[in-house]
Amino acid sequence: MTRIIEDTLQCFVCGAKSQQRQLASTHEHGSPDLDGRPAEEARSTMPEWVQTCPRCGYCAPELSRGHESSRALVRSPAYQAQLRAQDSPLLANRFLCAAMACDAAGRDVDAAHHRLHAAWVADDEGRPELARQYRSAVADALLARREALRAWRAGDGDWKGAEVTFLVDVLRRAGRFQEALRELENALQKGVSSIVREILRFERSAIERGDAGGHRLAEALSGSVLREDPRDDDPLLGYLLSHCGDFVTPQENKAAFTGTLRTPEGERWATDDPQVLTLLAHGKKAFTAALEKRLLADHPDKVVINRCPKCGGIARTPKARQCRFCHHSWHDKR
Ligand SMILES: [Zn+2]
Ligand SMILES: [Zn+2]
Repeated sequence: MTRIIEDTLQCFVCGAKSQQRQLASTHEHGSPDLDGRPAEEARSTMPEWVQTCPRCGYCAPELSRGHESSRALVRSPAYQAQLRAQDSPLLANRFLCAAMACDAAGRDVDAAHHRLHAAWVADDEGRPELARQYRSAVADALLARREALRAWRAGDGDWKGAEVTFLVDVLRRAGRFQEALRELENALQKGVSSIVREILRFERSAIERGDAGGHRLAEALSGSVLREDPRDDDPLLGYLLSHCGDFVTPQENKAAFTGTLRTPEGERWATDDPQVLTLLAHGKKAFTAALEKRLLADHPDKVVINRCPKCGGIARTPKARQCRFCHHSWHDKR
């Protein structure tokens, strides 16, 4: 659920007090876009991502905080012109002003973020030319400082190279297809994870079609890699993770949560971690059975696997005395 609170805040630049809305909490249901734009409900909370002082026009995620450089910047004609620009959406202007404040403070990663948010506003307002222009500025900033890109979207292990998928998507959606393709091929040559390779393949086919539109991560990754909780599929695995979790190793835990990835070469586990691949070598069911066996062998006095005496189904909890499958109850029988 999305929750927005109102609060009186004092402007960092001019000291004026004003009522401001703040995003207290939100959530995402579904796949984000390839450029990181979240799914609903978070997707629609953008007006709450930047606050604006009604007196001086200072724009920032938190109006009461800022960098000294903001004081002079907000008074400058360039800033005031951006704030009041007629040819762009009001909310985009606010993000672009927040970006200018970050530029002045030397916070280029945050500046790029705000400019990307302006592009999302332009997308929603049906202004593709403006969106392209804002994305192009984001791409320029990231190309000029690749370490900022890595800091922003660093992907380790199974997401190695994730920052490149982001850069490629921004370039593609800015209509800079040749550069997008060059970045993509470079990354593939240098080596990326299996998941990232599939995303880059998706980007490549979009570029080849001349497609500069938005796409969801779920479109690029088929298989079960993005499914949220494996415990829903397998009651025994759910039981082991929930009730014996203290004895489950990080590698086993990772194996439990690893989904599959459909690739042109066939379906595979969505990980490159050799230890996890070994655990999953005979499938998820076999992994779960082996995990149960190991837990019982290593911790016979602590691990209780509560099964229904009638059908053998796994109970919900170690103390449950009724079967969720056959409804048999064994309250006094043990
Ligand atoms: Zn102010
Ligand atoms: Zn039963």
